Amino acid sequence: MTKYEDAKRCPKCDQPGELKGTSVIERGARVETYHCMNEDCSWFNTGWAVQINRDGSIPEHNTSDPKQFALPDWAKNAADREINQTAHLFGLDRDPEDPEYGKAITNDVPEIRRP
Ligand SMILES: [Zn+2]
Repeated sequence: MTKYEDAKRCPKCDQPGELKGTSVIERGARVETYHCMNEDCSWFNTGWAVQINRDGSIPEHNTSDPKQFALPDWAKNAADREINQTAHLFGLDRDPEDPEYGKAITNDVPEIRRP
């Protein structure tokens, strides 16, 4: 399994997530937002983001890699807020019909603007 395939899986139940949105960010990199659709999972309908560089690699030190922060339940609400905020920054909380949908506010997302 590639790291990308791994990153698409739910951090909790390891089932493949459902792709909810893709945003192109700087220099051809993109962020994909996934939701867990496993009703038995504590992350059901919870989203996470995966950054993919233009060359297809996943940044090693990217905190949006779900495998790098296995969160205890008490931290889940904070994580949900962060995911929601991330979705907001990438315009993914908008109606898909909205012309602003998927437009990243990259100036406000310093952690994905690494060289
Ligand atoms: Zn899950």
